Amino acid sequence: MPSNNFLLSCVVPVFNESPVIGRFMEALIKQLEEITVRLEIIVVDDGSTDKTVELVEPFCDDERIKLIELSRNFGKETALTAGIDATSGDAVVLIDADFQHPLEMIPVFVDYWRQGYQMVYGVRQDRENESFLKKKGAQVFYRIMHSSTGIDVPAHAGDFRLLDKVVVDALRAMPERSRFMKGIYAWVGYKSIGLPFQVRNRLAGQSGWGYGKLTSLALSGITAFTTLPLRIVGGLGLIISFISVFYALFIIFRTLVLGAPLPGWPTVIVAITFIGGIQLLSLWLLGEYVAGIFCEVKKRPKYLIQRQLGFKNQKDSNAAD
Ligand code: UDP
Ligand code: MG
Repeated sequence: MPSNNFLLSCVVPVFNESPVIGRFMEALIKQLEEITVRLEIIVVDDGSTDKTVELVEPFCDDERIKLIELSRNFGKETALTAGIDATSGDAVVLIDADFQHPLEMIPVFVDYWRQGYQMVYGVRQDRENESFLKKKGAQVFYRIMHSSTGIDVPAHAGDFRLLDKVVVDALRAMPERSRFMKGIYAWVGYKSIGLPFQVRNRLAGQSGWGYGKLTSLALSGITAFTTLPLRIVGGLGLIISFISVFYALFIIFRTLVLGAPLPGWPTVIVAITFIGGIQLLSLWLLGEYVAGIFCEVKKRPKYLIQRQLGFKNQKDSNAAD
């Protein structure tokens, strides 16, 4: 059980959040101060192009508040990784800056953590604010992950969560560049519990997650955690080969025994385009996995830091491996 004198860290990834970030920081500080006196807030600026950084800077006069400015927009998952790497707390809370994650849940997370849970995550109760396509897409995605990986990725659980120090150390030890956090949280395991919460409307600004980004996230999640798609394509190839052998035998039989004329070109065209389509699809799938390997073997840093504010041993620029 954690002692009473624990240090609570909070990681906030921000990307163009200038309409809300000031209000959010004030509310967050107030909320955390009610829980503990020892706190640390790490704001990770993910390459914002608006005034977000300028608005966060004044908060860094408070020695408990730190800012990491990434060199460009790396995406929320990487921004979170950068923040998590920089924490020194006994527990780390990850929270969005747009007020969609209710701040009142943080004390509840901490209570569960103090009861011995090493990971406490929020489970979205309704996604009614999201479009039909996003909801359906999420459903399909969780189903594929569920049925193919063997690890249980909880549906509707996002990055809003509390991680114990041991989980943070486990995350730090994971070398992969492809940071599919939902899968990684599930993969590391530890004693976890999901708590329901209502997603709020964004207070201001716009969600940075369009359909394109979401699809690419889902795809990298699937290819990073399961090779099932490759097997499906393999199975499909096998089935098609069998069908074609039987069809060939059938044609031979029909021509030689029944004396029927050879069927015309439509059959040939359909067969060629069908097989061609399947082949291209398989190539694309293979390509996704090869691309994954390509990114990993280069061993590039996961993120680049342009500037850090509020850290002791401050550096102007720093590349984290
Ligand atoms: N975010 C980020 N980098 C990005 C996109 C978003 O750091 O490329 C941050 C954003 O500022 C917010 C959080 O991640 O604090 C969640 O982003 P958003 O609200 O756009 O996502 P959603 O709520 O739609 O999942
Ligand atoms: Mg949001």
